[in-house]
Amino acid sequence: LFEKIPAAPEDPILGVGQQFKADPRAEKVNLSVGVYQTEEGKIPVLNVVREAETRLYKANKPHGYGPISGNPDVDHYIQELLFGKDSEVITSKRACTVQSLGGTGAIKLAADLLHVVLGKNKAATSAPTWGNHNTIFKQAGYEVSHYRYYNKEAGTIDFDHLIGDIRALESGTVVVLHACCHNPTGLDFSEEQWKTLLDVIVERGLTPLLDIAYQGFDKGLDEDASSIRLFAKAGISFLVSSSFSKSFSLYGERIGGLTVVTQNADEAARVLSQVKQMARANYSNPPLYGAALVATVLGDPKLRAEWEQELAAMRNRIREMRELLAEAMKKAGSPRDFSFVTKQDGMFSFTGFTPEQIERLKKDYGIYAVANGRICIAGLNHKNIEYVAKAFTAVQK
Ligand code: PMP
Repeated sequence: LFEKIPAAPEDPILGVGQQFKADPRAEKVNLSVGVYQTEEGKIPVLNVVREAETRLYKANKPHGYGPISGNPDVDHYIQELLFGKDSEVITSKRACTVQSLGGTGAIKLAADLLHVVLGKNKAATSAPTWGNHNTIFKQAGYEVSHYRYYNKEAGTIDFDHLIGDIRALESGTVVVLHACCHNPTGLDFSEEQWKTLLDVIVERGLTPLLDIAYQGFDKGLDEDASSIRLFAKAGISFLVSSSFSKSFSLYGERIGGLTVVTQNADEAARVLSQVKQMARANYSNPPLYGAALVATVLGDPKLRAEWEQELAAMRNRIREMRELLAEAMKKAGSPRDFSFVTKQDGMFSFTGFTPEQIERLKKDYGIYAVANGRICIAGLNHKNIEYVAKAFTAVQK
């Protein structure tokens, strides 16, 4: 049966992580995977998560099946985080949320809903984007095209071409957008650009999916949801995939949610029944534990406030590392000005390094990054930053 089956290609990001693990060099640095690390290079367990774990342990609840749509408290908190507590979207009940297996699971639920139920088969993603966007939509039966996003020479968003490409999409196409902290470029739209984009989306009858995997990692929880709130205010129907992987440092617990914003409560109820159908056929019902942790924290005002502080600390450490990297590059004598890293948002930076330079960083210095030149700023710390800056400078010469 499987004699002639070809091997699938290694995941370009997770594959690098495996190579890093196998590298015996003490000075090695992992800048590949999109995971927040502390100054000590560790994935943190947030204090609020530890407290929630203790409470759950004491409560000693049985591990029965949960609802198909997941933990109802989490579904509610997701909407509050996205739209703001008193938002019209919430009071009118015109949105529905289903807990998902991380942000990835939310995107898959969205793709399935739109394809299986509404018959959509065209999607457009940014060039470049997080690779799994393309894979998920292709696997869900879509033809995936790309709108231009990045101007390599200028190191900015190629907005004119982007708008042209979006305008040229067939009406009804699913347009995948990064709500904040664009992965991999670290370049986000200005408020003005979001407004222009929204106008074109409405005019062309496109279906937006806003992916928000890094809420709280750029400016703050409310600020980072401003694009979603702009779309909500416009009164259009759209979809949002959320993730708590980064904001709660709960990567392996697979906790996120798909939110579908519709025109009214009746529509939302019907959409919810269909999303549940997709979930049921894929995995029956989502895992309980991560959701219970998130619900415990967000349901307790004291823990919630503490979570916001812990989230801000992660965000601020990344900002500090951006500043330090720019300085260290200057000090190391980099032939290229690296101050652009301070202007990018979120966890990632697009360095402009070629695949050959990325290969040299790995081979000669044990510094692992993605072949497209993306680095995860959260992998930097006070101990490794000078070493990294020297290596970054050396491979440019
Ligand atoms: N969207 C983007 C843009 C991402 O970068 C990621 C994570 N790397 C996800 C979605 C998925 O996140 P999760 O791990 O929660 O599935």
